Amino acid sequence: MGGYDSVTLYKIRKLLAELSGIKGRGTELVSLYIPPSRPVHDVINILRDEYSTASNIKSDTTRTHVQGALTKIVQRLKLYKKLPPTGLAIFCGAVPKPGKELEEFVLYEVVPPKSINTFLYRCDDHFHLEILRDMIRETEVIGVISIDSSEAGIGVIRGNMLTVVDVITSGVGSKHRQGGQSARRFERLREAELEEFFNRVAKHAVKALLEEYPVKKLIISGPGPTKEEFYKGEYMDYRLQKAVIGLADTSYSGEEGVRETLERAKDLLRDTRLIEEKTLIEGFLKEASRSDGLATYGLHEVMGALEAGAADMVMVSEDIDTQVVELTCNRCGYKRMMFVNVKDVYGLLSEEMQRRCPRCGNVDWSYRQLDLVDYIYDKAQLTGTKVEIVSSKTEYGQMFKSFGGLGAMLRYRSH
Ligand SMILES: [Zn+2]
Repeated sequence: MGGYDSVTLYKIRKLLAELSGIKGRGTELVSLYIPPSRPVHDVINILRDEYSTASNIKSDTTRTHVQGALTKIVQRLKLYKKLPPTGLAIFCGAVPKPGKELEEFVLYEVVPPKSINTFLYRCDDHFHLEILRDMIRETEVIGVISIDSSEAGIGVIRGNMLTVVDVITSGVGSKHRQGGQSARRFERLREAELEEFFNRVAKHAVKALLEEYPVKKLIISGPGPTKEEFYKGEYMDYRLQKAVIGLADTSYSGEEGVRETLERAKDLLRDTRLIEEKTLIEGFLKEASRSDGLATYGLHEVMGALEAGAADMVMVSEDIDTQVVELTCNRCGYKRMMFVNVKDVYGLLSEEMQRRCPRCGNVDWSYRQLDLVDYIYDKAQLTGTKVEIVSSKTEYGQMFKSFGGLGAMLRYRSH
């Protein structure tokens, strides 16, 4: 895949979801994309110019907000001697907060997964996210045509998703000749029918695999020699013909054949996230099914293994609904961590915040909510543990979810 890991993708997707929900009161939300080659002082000068220009804004609130955001960004940029190798994106603005009368400034800094090519400064009533969004869009699409003389299925693989987009039935008669028909006539008829079918499949393929989901690579699969005939006969558009990376033997054709191709063309699909995830989860399931296996699951077990440095890899479902809540005693600094289902957070907090601090006996807490993946990722950095975010949309992802959506592969058995 694109070369960046599942955690980076997860974090950026989450951030995009958060940022896209933010609306400014006026034209006052600042988006800034800086290419890596741009000198920081150069950017600071541009922002200072924008600051003076902003003094012409008539609305007091908008002016204060824009200038406030620019000041915050300049302060942040001053911390950089050099920009990260892919550049830097910053989103800053005054945002309404629930239960508060005045807006509060937020500032998000993103090191993009791919290099930023053009400098962009925008002040608008929303954040400009297209550039980041384009970066994480799955660029490689692989097509599958699974064909025999009775039917053909067309599918596409994008990232960790497989979609069957079309199924075409042939209407070609059976291989066995009816009584009274001459062998030659039967053969000719069958060939003509097959050719008509191949041309029809080729036409559908143009629509599905060039127009709808432009594919870079194509695999042709199916039982028996029909797939070779289809491929060697060059029925397809030359672009699709050129995109073929291999043929694969399957026992089925059509929709079932498309799905089976994943299994049978593993080598050809090795680099796709779909196969990567499938392999990860298969490995996990195999270990989890053995009593002395190197897999563990469940919040308590996985956290324990992570803390002990026993986890080689932690796997998390992308939509796991557990959050981390950290309570800190304002009087003595005592800290408590809790793992809570998202929907129970507020109920639990209102209860826990009434309790006395076990260290100093006061009832004076503040709290912080953390994303479980962020929490795990930070811990994992300390112990050299890999973290993989797995999709919950795939069949394998669903299987993994039935283990609570959290698992670890261990370096060794702890007991
Ligand atoms: Zn205390």
